[in-house]
Amino acid sequence: MIEITALRKSYGDLEVLKEINLKVETGGVVSLIGPSGSGKSTLLRCINLLVVPDDGAIRVGKTAFSFGQALQPPRSRTLADFRSRTGMVFQNFNLFPHMSVLENVMEAPVHVRRLPKAAARDMAMTQLEKVGLADRAAQMPETLSGGQKQRVAIARALAMEPEVMLFDEATSALDPELVGEVLQTMQKLASDGMTMVIVTHEIAFARDVADRVVFMRDGYVVEDGPAREVIENPKSEATQSFLSHYH
Ligand code: ATP
Ligand code: MG
Repeated sequence: MIEITALRKSYGDLEVLKEINLKVETGGVVSLIGPSGSGKSTLLRCINLLVVPDDGAIRVGKTAFSFGQALQPPRSRTLADFRSRTGMVFQNFNLFPHMSVLENVMEAPVHVRRLPKAAARDMAMTQLEKVGLADRAAQMPETLSGGQKQRVAIARALAMEPEVMLFDEATSALDPELVGEVLQTMQKLASDGMTMVIVTHEIAFARDVADRVVFMRDGYVVEDGPAREVIENPKSEATQSFLSHYH
């Protein structure tokens, strides 16, 4: 479960998140859409505290944080622990180039969760099977296609057994013919009951994978509703105008 209350973030004079409220039930899937610069990535980074908000509150599962001028920011150990339980997948994979696929997926379980190597290897292989890449475990990242790299990045996040998974334009850097396999992997995760927030420009996917679609503009949530309704019959003019560029 994710609960975001009255979240604010500024960079200097630029208010990037103005007062965001958002709730994702356990097992819920939300697609986050909106124009470039509307604050989607910043919001996602706030959810796993890669970016520390100025004000408001964030809850993921049982862990809750409040932010504000009078409050101490969370300690770095607390942040690191929280981030590891909040899986994030970026546009550019960020695999460790000098490690094999298996070592990439084992890295955090060994160094952050302190699992014994054998247990971490079992965990890593389980996750690689889930994304259909168990047979690639010994390869180096540079020998994989972009779609395979991104599936390894997903397996690596899953190896920490995160409570939620956050995807920031996970398919934007891929050649068109490689997008499908990554979307399929995400769809399977969603069907298996993972709680997910997905930032994407793939509008049809945003509609099909999610229960809800949230449209952001200028640091605000402008529209939040059932996926099919928001995409096919948006209420706000801003959402209509944004979506008209995709038809
Ligand atoms: P896109 O669709 O292009 O990825 P976005 O909706 O993800 O856009 P953000 O990356 O969240 O948008 O950026 C929102 C605004 O915050 C932009 O105006 C951006 O320039 C600004 N911004 C983001 N990160 C920083 C930063 N570290 N320092 C200063 N400004 C930033
Ligand atoms: Mg972004």
